[in-house]
Amino acid sequence: MAKPKDPVVEERVFKNVYVCRKCNSKIRSGKIEKTKCRKCGSKSLRLKKKDMKTAG
Ligand SMILES: [Zn+2]
Repeated sequence: MAKPKDPVVEERVFKNVYVCRKCNSKIRSGKIEKTKCRKCGSKSLRLKKKDMKTAG
């Protein structure tokens, strides 16, 4: 992990990136209200967070 832990950088990277709650696909969009998953068509999306390593 050579990336800096700068909150500004993190916000830039993870802003507008969502994850489908059903199939965990990543979706980049500006407005979550008008976004749906490309794979399963679900509108249940969540913001992508950085702590993916603790997922489980
Ligand atoms: Zn999906």
